[in-house]
Amino acid sequence: MIRIRPTSIVGIALAGAAALAQAQPVLNVYSARHYQTDEALYANFTQQTGIKVNRIDGKEEELVERIKNEGASSPADVLITVDAARLEIADKAGLFQPHQSKLLESRIPATLRTPTWLAFSTRARVIAYNKAAVNGAWVQNYEDLANPRLKGQVCVRSGSHPYNLSLGAAMIAHNGEAKAEEWARGVVANFARSPKGGDTDQLKAVAAGECGVAVSNSYYVARLMRSTKPADQEVMRKLAVVWPNQGSWGTHINVSGAGIVKTSPNREAAVKFLEYLASDEAQGHFAGGNNEWPVVKSAAFKNPALESLGDFRSDTLPIGQLAATTVQAQKVYDRAGWR
Ligand code: FE
Repeated sequence: MIRIRPTSIVGIALAGAAALAQAQPVLNVYSARHYQTDEALYANFTQQTGIKVNRIDGKEEELVERIKNEGASSPADVLITVDAARLEIADKAGLFQPHQSKLLESRIPATLRTPTWLAFSTRARVIAYNKAAVNGAWVQNYEDLANPRLKGQVCVRSGSHPYNLSLGAAMIAHNGEAKAEEWARGVVANFARSPKGGDTDQLKAVAAGECGVAVSNSYYVARLMRSTKPADQEVMRKLAVVWPNQGSWGTHINVSGAGIVKTSPNREAAVKFLEYLASDEAQGHFAGGNNEWPVVKSAAFKNPALESLGDFRSDTLPIGQLAATTVQAQKVYDRAGWR
């Protein structure tokens, strides 16, 4: 039997350390969002609350699998990822629990949250075209990309990528499934090449003249705009960027989002963390670091690239509805042959 003498200095020190450890909980954040600028954000949260953040980085699919495998004993408190299609996968797998935070509900617009997960920044899916090769009037809407006059001109990434699934979901929501499928077929018929690479690769291919028009998330455009590399600057000199569908349902926007893991051992700290991400100060960093927009309207941030891209009308389709339609979008793309 081990006896701890009450007067032992070691005993007192140990008891003190244990009390401190209890007072400083560790929050496990599983993140599929890897932007260096997010680090300062987490450090700041620790400074404000005394809660340490242990970040586990990985690809979305890996993190979802990991939480599933860890089961009831998962240390995960919060899952952060990008794109509604991916948040839907995690939600469908039953990984989240309701946040039940009045503060989050007051800060984040109703169209940008669901009962389980919330958006913390937005990005737009824009059209970019080669000014020397394509008439800008021909590419003002997503629907235009299916027009036969763009035959052999369209560069776009894979139809199974979440970014395009979410765009497809918006097309279905606004135009109906039959029209969306017809559209997808038209886009496929206009391909300049089989889908390959990411959004930035499509922008570069447009600048190089391999295609006339591409679709890309806005932050990739902003990244090229802010790049000091001459090659990137040359790409942007060749391109013009369009906010699609300004005359109809608005430009499709997507999100970075997060939710509290169902089995979170530290629910209270998890809520605090999400509320912190919705603070004016964190919003500016969270969004601006990756050239996205804050979801909280009062949050200010400086980003010359986004400022020069200007204002636009965004789609107001509730993000939960969009997310739930992404499964249908995959079926539409499969039938249309958008691999
Ligand atoms: Fe991306």
